[in-house]
Amino acid sequence: MNPYRQRTWAEVSLDALSHNLAAIREHLPPKTKVMAVVKADGYGHGDGMTARTLAEAGVDYFAVSNLEEALSLREAGIDTNILILGYTAPQAAPRLATHRITQAVFSHTYALELADCCKEAGVVVDIHLKLDTGMGRIGFSMGSEEQLRQICALPEFRVTGIFSHLSSADGDTPEDAAYTKLQCLRFADTVAALEREGFSFPLKHLQNSAGLAFLPDLGYDYARAGIVLYGAAPGEAALPFPLEPVLSLRTTVSMVKEVPAGTAVSYGRHFVTHRPMRLATVPIGYADGYPRRLSHGGWMLVGGRPAPIVGSICMDQLMLDVTGIPGVEVGDTVTVIGRDGAEEITVNQLAATADTIGYEILCMISKRVPRIYSRAGVEFAVKLPSGQVKLF
Ligand SMILES: *Cc1c(COP(=O)(O)O)cnc(C)c1O
Repeated sequence: MNPYRQRTWAEVSLDALSHNLAAIREHLPPKTKVMAVVKADGYGHGDGMTARTLAEAGVDYFAVSNLEEALSLREAGIDTNILILGYTAPQAAPRLATHRITQAVFSHTYALELADCCKEAGVVVDIHLKLDTGMGRIGFSMGSEEQLRQICALPEFRVTGIFSHLSSADGDTPEDAAYTKLQCLRFADTVAALEREGFSFPLKHLQNSAGLAFLPDLGYDYARAGIVLYGAAPGEAALPFPLEPVLSLRTTVSMVKEVPAGTAVSYGRHFVTHRPMRLATVPIGYADGYPRRLSHGGWMLVGGRPAPIVGSICMDQLMLDVTGIPGVEVGDTVTVIGRDGAEEITVNQLAATADTIGYEILCMISKRVPRIYSRAGVEFAVKLPSGQVKLF
């Protein structure tokens, strides 16, 4: 038996990842390539394995949130383009240059600081200009053409792209649609104005998962695909292409007990049995990234059947009501996220129950949970809590 399938583990299907990439590519026009967003350790799936799989399938641009994540990809053997979407300390300019990492430049102040550090180190850094067309997070605000011109002229930078980020493309109201349209127009107008003056931006990108799903035909060079690669929808709206969930999360029954009515379960005695019950304890808790919020309304699959969580979720363990499920034994596998027989628990179902979004459920799965990778249906590697990847 695989020794990493003994307590709590995640199964990552690289086949599903490849399937999703193909589905996204098919949905996009041929001129728009996929920039794979693998920040936050590949949305919790493991960055190296995810990125290598995508690179083998021809993805030639990756996006991450910070320098450490970019360097982690380099260590994993990714030698294509990498864009850092967020802040990097300007003092890290030499490392950006050495490792050929592209940095988002999102304000005048940041640009000048980064340029100073480049000058001091005698390096030139590749940058993508980031416009704030309405996300309100980072980016040059509308009407910053003068600053953009100045930055484009700095010899410390090679401006290889320009981009912006949509805030509401997964929304389903007319207001959301109008806002997304406004953002698209602002981006197109600003880029066109600069291009008319002779500036050129080899790469332009605007869409995220929701943007590429619902507005595939904007005609830009890349679409930044994040959550859809991992097989989850960015919001509640159904997607126009089929996805397969990449990650399943499983745990194991550690104890089964029959208890009489009136038995208090877990911290605070918030749950007391109102009848004789059979309870199963499983070794997964909030330290594994399973939200404590799910103490109310959470459930798992045991023997292909839903078993509600009872009592407060602990750091490392929780209890399930398996009264109606015959034959539950110590050592049985329990499905936390994923499919068991005819039943499935999706990331977005859990997110809705925990009053959050699928993104958070995925990237909260903690380091303690080994990720077991399969390709062509065969498990071949594991990412351990230490970060080390072991091949079987
Ligand atoms: C995280 C992120 C993405 C990917 O978002 P998804 O909704 O997962 O596709 C794209 N662009 C930027 C700037 C991001 O921060």
